[in-house]
Amino acid sequence: MSGSTSGQVELPLRWLKPSAEPVSVVCATRVYYWDGHWDTVLGRAIRCSGSDCAYCDRAQAVERRWVIGVKRPGGERFLFEMRKRQRAAIDLLTELGEASVGQRLSIRREGDSPTSPVTVSVLSMTATVERWEIEKLVSVLGRA
Ligand SMILES: [Zn+2]
Repeated sequence: MSGSTSGQVELPLRWLKPSAEPVSVVCATRVYYWDGHWDTVLGRAIRCSGSDCAYCDRAQAVERRWVIGVKRPGGERFLFEMRKRQRAAIDLLTELGEASVGQRLSIRREGDSPTSPVTVSVLSMTATVERWEIEKLVSVLGRA
């Protein structure tokens, strides 16, 4: 490993897609979040722009999405999105802050359907991992 990627947006973005087979990953970042609205026409979440938000004006619910950067056993890095259902893991990782880096997680989908719920377990084990800077990446998620 050489050089630093701090501050650069790396493309393409790869998102971890949980499956019924549990995957063990190591957190390479703390937890970040962003607030958005699901746009049924665009078929994707659009970031809430706050006071002048057209979705808020139409009383559409704001949904928070938590994002963490993880490293798979092969060394590949992925972004992983968590929603309210993973609240226990989110709370734990949020409390850990920067100490999340190096925490091992086990992630699995509770079924074969892509809509089956996903369980995230924070294992009480750590690993050495190079910190990944994703703050800028997360700051552009959901931008029009
Ligand atoms: Zn809004």
